[in-house]
Amino acid sequence: MIFAHDTEEALLSAAALINTAPHSTAEATPDSLSSLRDLDVFVEEQRFSGSRAHDEAELRGVRRMRTQLRAIWMADEAGAAALVNELLAQAKALPQLVKHDQWDWHLHATTPSAPLAQRMGTEAAMGLVDVIRSKELARLKVCAADDCQAVLIDLSKNRSRRYCDTGNCGNRAHVAAYRARKAAEVSN
Ligand SMILES: [Zn+2]
Ligand SMILES: [Zn+2]
Repeated sequence: MIFAHDTEEALLSAAALINTAPHSTAEATPDSLSSLRDLDVFVEEQRFSGSRAHDEAELRGVRRMRTQLRAIWMADEAGAAALVNELLAQAKALPQLVKHDQWDWHLHATTPSAPLAQRMGTEAAMGLVDVIRSKELARLKVCAADDCQAVLIDLSKNRSRRYCDTGNCGNRAHVAAYRARKAAEVSN
């Protein structure tokens, strides 16, 4: 494990949120966070607990925060630090040790009644704090496939992950490389 368990969960969840936005440059793909129903599904999948408004303002808040997270993925170290601080300030984050349900002591930095976008944003920001202070920002990557702008968090030991897991970018790239090799052989 590269980071603490809850940090890795938060980072994977942040990447999943960013990737709900269209990210293919080859074809028009739908935004999978465009309705209240989409938001319910995402919140359920990512097991976010706490209060919900179930209204358009909540959806807008989460979509806005999604854009902020993507900007952090693209930023250099100083830029990422500033953007993470902004997320924490927006949510007036106040780290507190808590113990609830089956979980032993861990950190919460927002209350369960804070707006969903703030709770999600703070959780992502707290994970990103660990990434930045351990000098691991290079683990925040953009998919290596030519036609894909999806993000990934590389949690491999040797930092070798290159493709996102939104589709089969890795496979497509291997097939393309294979075809290119074959074509080169034929023309030789
Ligand atoms: Zn908790
Ligand atoms: Zn991809």
